[in-house]
Amino acid sequence: MKIKKTAKKNLGAMVMAGAIMFSATVAGAGTPKYVFFFLGDGMSNSQIQATEAYMTQANGGSAHEAADLLRPENRLNMSKMPVIGMQTTYDVHSLMPDSASSATAFACGLKTQSGTVGMDDSKTVSYKSIAQLAHEAGKKVGVISSVSLDHATPAAYYASVPSRGNYGDIDTQLVGSGYEFFGGGGLKVMDPDELDDYGYELLNDRESIMGLKDAPRDKVVCINPWLQNSQAMPYAIDRPETNVSLAEMTEVAIANLKGDQGFFIMVEGGKIDWACHANDAGATIGDMQAFDNAVGVALDFYKQHPFNTLIVVTGDHETGGMSIGHATTAYSAHYERLLGQTSSFTYFDANQWAEHKAAYAATTDCSTPDTLAGNADMLGLMESVFDLNWTDLNEYQKEKLEDAYDKSLCGNNDNSNAENGLLYGNYNPITVTITHILNEQASIGWTSYSHTGVPVPVFAQGVYKRLFAGFYDNTDIAKKMARAMSLGTVPAMK
Ligand SMILES: [Zn+2]
Repeated sequence: MKIKKTAKKNLGAMVMAGAIMFSATVAGAGTPKYVFFFLGDGMSNSQIQATEAYMTQANGGSAHEAADLLRPENRLNMSKMPVIGMQTTYDVHSLMPDSASSATAFACGLKTQSGTVGMDDSKTVSYKSIAQLAHEAGKKVGVISSVSLDHATPAAYYASVPSRGNYGDIDTQLVGSGYEFFGGGGLKVMDPDELDDYGYELLNDRESIMGLKDAPRDKVVCINPWLQNSQAMPYAIDRPETNVSLAEMTEVAIANLKGDQGFFIMVEGGKIDWACHANDAGATIGDMQAFDNAVGVALDFYKQHPFNTLIVVTGDHETGGMSIGHATTAYSAHYERLLGQTSSFTYFDANQWAEHKAAYAATTDCSTPDTLAGNADMLGLMESVFDLNWTDLNEYQKEKLEDAYDKSLCGNNDNSNAENGLLYGNYNPITVTITHILNEQASIGWTSYSHTGVPVPVFAQGVYKRLFAGFYDNTDIAKKMARAMSLGTVPAMK
């Protein structure tokens, strides 16, 4: 009897404690005041692991040694977050989605077709994004992207258009959104000087953008001083000191939006995707680190506001079919091979290669193939920009580079169209061949110049983080975020 009584008493105490814990959890886990959504465009597990292997090697360890790979300083902020989920990325008609349909999925909770932003598959019905819903609920909203602010991913948070290419309509909806902060790249159609007409202040130099941390403004558009290509910020590997990093842009946004009602901030690392399309691992890893540094800014903010903050990090799809391991290197990895690359493929094409071609195209005898081996200037460029030493290459690699050089300099190589398509995609043959060989040496392979259909991880920290555990569809991300923020049911028609 006595034992039974004690057990009963203990059970009662446990129920009581449970009830107190439950109510404490509910009270502590109210709707998060501060919400971050980080989107690495083109980022999946390979991009994450390649970056951590690179960091391990860059920090003096070995990408072969678990003890080194596991060191905290060799891990990305995102992969240290406590909750992980996995999302499928296909859209309504394609296993390999584009950024428009996937952004519509996690912004609006809606499956649509590739190319469409914020509208359904019929391209006739427009839907609200969780950013719009959060704004209507009183939160301030910030949209940050390293590519143009009207590119498909950021656009899904404020615009509904049948085609992602309708930049004029997207720009009009951007200025009509009333969102308090835009930061990153430029605009495709609208002259930024016109922003003033719509009540937005334009800042486009480092000093005035960073100055916002101490002097917030009501409605502001911050455009990085240098737009490298297609109105995008430069690749991190090419970024001059006078520019603003994605992490700094995130700090500025937080300082500007932190008010009584809280904020929703979307941050896109948009050029991870572009580097993967071009099969350039060095540029990919640089932008992965820049993106993850921005995640680190949010995690620091979370530490100051642990009961009011939710952070979600994911990708929209994998790009490039990047692999960890390659047929030519089997079980060995040599990430040290990537440490010497100093420019992205884009910078190289626009600068060193453009100058080289201008100097040699007219004087090279293009009727004679295999001119690369005898061109000391080009071999020097390969070594200084990509750390690729001609004498270390095997005959097959030399042959591939000779073919590509002929094609890039003279446009006269013998490859079939199908072979050229496989070897170079739409990229400059010599540059993509250089990055292919360099990446293979490191043990990174590429299977595509497009997006692939592998699922993508989701990382979460903060209030309601557990909602993001499990294996689910990309549209569920918007539904989970709407639930966390008490924004009602999505998809929600406009
Ligand atoms: Zn892409």
